[in-house]
Formats: sequence, C-alpha cells, structure tokens
Amino acid sequence: MSVIEKNTAIDRISKAAHLIDMSDIIREGHPTLRALAEEVTFPLSEQEVILGEKMLQFLKHSQDPVTAEKMGLRGGVGLAAPQLDISKRIIAVLVPNAPDEEGNPPKEAYSLQAVMYNPKIVAHSVQDAALADGEGCLSVDREVPGYVIRHARVTVDYFDKDGQKHRIKLKGYNSIVVQHEIDHTNGVMFYDRIDEKDPFAVKEGMLVIE
Ligand SMILES: [Zn+2]
Repeated sequence: MSVIEKNTAIDRISKAAHLIDMSDIIREGHPTLRALAEEVTFPLSEQEVILGEKMLQFLKHSQDPVTAEKMGLRGGVGLAAPQLDISKRIIAVLVPNAPDEEGNPPKEAYSLQAVMYNPKIVAHSVQDAALADGEGCLSVDREVPGYVIRHARVTVDYFDKDGQKHRIKLKGYNSIVVQHEIDHTNGVMFYDRIDEKDPFAVKEGMLVIE
C-alpha cells in the first residue's frame, strides 16, 4: 500500500483549504455507492463536523451560477457522504425556494437546509409520490427517465453536529430529496425505484410532483 492510498477521502476532504468539487464525487459502479454506510457516534470527530460543513458548502457553490461555472460543478440539492467515498450516515440537503412571480428573491432563501447525521425514516405515508421530471444524481452521469417511486410524506429523525436529536415531517419536493439522500446511506440508487417495465406508470393514488 502506498502512502497516498493511506490518506482516506475524509482526511483529504476535511482539510481546511479543501473545497469539494466533482472530482471528489464517485460515480455509479463504485462499490461504496452500494454499501450500507456506518452510523456515526457522538460526540462526532472534528473531521465529521467539518465534512458536514463542506458538504453543505458544496451545495451552495453548486447552486451559485458564477461559482458553479468556475468550479465546473453540476447543480445539486443534496449530497450524501458515500458519494464522497466516505461510508458514513451523513447527508446534506439544500433546497432553494423559487423567486416570486416578479422574479424577486424569496423571503426565505431555502425551504430546507440541513446537515443530518444518522438520518432515519421513522414513519411514512401510505401514499406514494414521484417527481414529474424524474430524478438525477451527482454520481450518475446519464439521464435515467422514469418515475422514481417514493413515499409522499416522511417523518425523519436525525442528529445535528452537536448531537441534538431532531424530528421533521416532510412532504413534496423536500420529502423526495431527503429520501434520495438517505437511500445513498443504504446503497440504493434512484433508478432502483423506477419500474423497469413501465417507467412512467402511475399507480392508483400516486402523487406526481410538478
Ligand atoms: Zn444521488
């Protein structure tokens, strides 16, 4: 084993000067994306705290047109640690609100902004939902059309960086984003949830989110 191989992804990414970019993100086919990630324990290591901050920072950069262009980033609303080849149950989500009808910035910039440690779905609706436009993933460099069947509403428990437990109820787009990221901590890819035989089938009662 060489010295370089001993430096793990978390060592590299949690360095003060490091900015996460697309080269840090592993792509489909990498075994870490299919692994069951490990829970973190509290208190978190300093690296785990910094990692969460960097993941959220990456999402901010990716949503800023100038920074994204400069850094060559694809826009993202969520990122999970396994996508960085770090097999831990850590996700970051950053869902911007749309501008108003006149194009003014929204009052609240984000409808959801969080770094979640050990996130877990503890309850969900019977109703299913899917995004009308399907889903994409920073670890998947191709379009995979079809409805990604998920729960319409979920209750999620998670811990913040200080070890405080939170319980949130999510619906609509936010619910989908968090389910997509939690899937990454369980080795599940979004296209696993598309009906291969009939990708745009609408099951009875299924909510299609525009
Ligand atoms: Zn993804």
